[in-house]
Amino acid sequence: MSHDHPSGRRSFLRTVGVGVGMGAAVVGFDAGSRAWATQAVGAGAAPNDALPHLDGTLLTDPAALAPYADDFGHLVTGRTPRAVLLPGSVADICKMIRYCGPRGIDVAPRGQGHQCFGQAQVEAGLVIDMGPLAGIVVDPVRRTVEVQAGAVWSAVLDACLGHGLTPPVFTDYIELSVGGTLSAGGLGGAAQHHGAQVDTVLELDVVTGTGELVTCSATRHAELFDSARAGLGQVGVITRAVLEVVPARAHVRKYTLTYAEVSALTAAQRRVVRDGRFDWLEGAAAALPGGGGWQFQLEGAVYYDAVAPDDDAVIGDLGFQGTAEIEEFDYRGFVDDLAPAVAYLKSTGEWYDPHPWYDMLLPDAATDEYVAATMAGLSVGDIGPSGVVLLYPIPTGGLRTPLLRRPEGELVFLFAVLRTAAPDPGALPAAVMQEGNRELYLKAQAFGGTIYPVDSIPMSAADWRVQYGDRWDAFRAAKRRFDPHGVLTPGQGIFRETVS
Ligand SMILES: Cc1cc2nc3c(=O)[nH]c(=O)nc-3n(C[C@H](O)[C@H](O)[C@H](O)COP(=O)(O)OP(=O)(O)OC[C@H]3O[C@@H](n4cnc5c(N)ncnc54)[C@H](O)[C@@H]3O)c2cc1C
Repeated sequence: MSHDHPSGRRSFLRTVGVGVGMGAAVVGFDAGSRAWATQAVGAGAAPNDALPHLDGTLLTDPAALAPYADDFGHLVTGRTPRAVLLPGSVADICKMIRYCGPRGIDVAPRGQGHQCFGQAQVEAGLVIDMGPLAGIVVDPVRRTVEVQAGAVWSAVLDACLGHGLTPPVFTDYIELSVGGTLSAGGLGGAAQHHGAQVDTVLELDVVTGTGELVTCSATRHAELFDSARAGLGQVGVITRAVLEVVPARAHVRKYTLTYAEVSALTAAQRRVVRDGRFDWLEGAAAALPGGGGWQFQLEGAVYYDAVAPDDDAVIGDLGFQGTAEIEEFDYRGFVDDLAPAVAYLKSTGEWYDPHPWYDMLLPDAATDEYVAATMAGLSVGDIGPSGVVLLYPIPTGGLRTPLLRRPEGELVFLFAVLRTAAPDPGALPAAVMQEGNRELYLKAQAFGGTIYPVDSIPMSAADWRVQYGDRWDAFRAAKRRFDPHGVLTPGQGIFRETVS
């Protein structure tokens, strides 16, 4: 949904996204039975703690709640909320958090539910489905886009392309919500030039754990800004973001180059990341036919308008094996190039299988040895036939958001083992894959690796402290300040034991 530029921000917030049924019921929380009680408006006295009237809808029907007790991972299921808010306005979110906080009712915002480990689930609490708040306004003069957090990135891309603009960084899959990726970080092949998506945020609106709507930026309520970006929903619900956009190029030429060894791939990646010849850079491991191990692929893309890149100048010095694969895309097709694979996996059903995902940022110096050893120990069966392994470098100079944790040093490597657990007899069960992920994690943690928290690695309280390192105390203080009731987004499992 795209909208013309509004006369003022507040009117935007009031008018956009009210696409759901108007509040038709008053629902109260009975503290005695810990049950939500529903009454028709005007049908006798409301319970003492009856909810305020809402612009949107509160779902309480068990059938409507069921999808919110699951997510893309299908590893954590059965944490059924008492209610789901389909907000008709940002005010609904404020009102519901004000209602839930003092009553100790947990609250979790949910974008597209594409986390893997119950991060947006909340047992017996309130899920806020951000989907209805999906307004998008492009300002071509300031080169910004103002988005409500429930908007998906594909819609943001389309709205921006209408003005010849684009957000600079996309995740590989773009049917994710803006709030969902900004709560994690948002990494992709353009992060080498622009940092993570959170590094492109100019301003946020956040509803804190006291139900207060606060506009924050690097210069205004900076503590909230720094703890909401990549803050995993711990200090508030992001409702609106103002993001930088850049001119979009018309065409993209993508090169896929093959290497036999991890170290040969990473050597080429270090070289190209240093000189910045690619606009977009990733890499992957691909299974050799016949179960004969892995080969490694550099994937680099050059964006252009009229003049196509000189292939020899781009890849001639990169020492790859065999023939380079060269593909042409229009810009939108490139950003959304995962779409055909997703459609295929949906058609086979594999998209709906459990996803025990492992996603780490590794220090440069440890990457070659660790990844080579890890891949030597993995077969296709260990990651599932539709599993994916990603490996690409990101210079840390652009990763400026404090809570997006990453190892020390000028360069880190994203290493992701994105497993799919097929239900077939004989296939490796999801629980065994998760144990494998945990072992891999502990090895990487020992040399300074940090999780990129879109995974399903079970984490102890001690692991979270290690993850946040010198930011732990500040994060904990922000949690206490902005979520004093300790009710926000418990599914991340970070503060439950430590915040009273
Ligand atoms: C196929 C696929 C490919 C992916 N590729 C990439 C990639 O290339 N790069 C990358 O960085 N990530 C990638 N991801 C991971 C993805 O970015 C995260 O899982 C993201 O959080 C999912 O967004 P969502 O809208 O589904 O969020 P949800 O799963 O709904 O929520 C994620 C977390 O954020 C919280 N949250 C949601 N909305 C808000 C909000 N408005 N305010 C505060 N907190 C909120 C939730 O409570 C939850 O804890 C991929 C995921 C999938 C499934």
